[in-house]
Amino acid sequence: MAEAAKAGGCLCGTVRFTARPKNHDVGVCHCGMCRKWAAGPFFAVECEGAVEVADASSRGADRSSERAERCFCKQCGSVLFYRLVGKDFSVISAEALDDRSGLTLTSQVFIDEKPSYYDFANKTHNMTGAEVFEAFASPADQAKG
Ligand SMILES: [Zn+2]
Ligand SMILES: [Zn+2]
Repeated sequence: MAEAAKAGGCLCGTVRFTARPKNHDVGVCHCGMCRKWAAGPFFAVECEGAVEVADASSRGADRSSERAERCFCKQCGSVLFYRLVGKDFSVISAEALDDRSGLTLTSQVFIDEKPSYYDFANKTHNMTGAEVFEAFASPADQAKG
């Protein structure tokens, strides 16, 4: 059972969207691509269905791998969400949500790619990149990229 639709947007306000978080869990990805993209680890909330963007022309999308694209604001560059192409899977930036009350950091993925200069004290379920690929190998295939 998904949560109610939540609103969010970018720094400059050009992109506004609604999305349906699956729950209150935040997962953080330490992979090199996410860190480069998000200027730090990517704090993500998994959503059900598509992210509905009010003005689709304001949203850019970078096809960062064969199966995934990373969406951002064309105006201010804010990181918005990551989605698998042709699949019903997207994760939005926790920080793009207007209301983050109740969110809890519960998991860390690609922990083996985490730089040594930071560590989170939260008690989380941690997975290496290899464990992520194994867990989501098929059919979801929701891994790095
Ligand atoms: Zn913007
Ligand atoms: Zn990542």
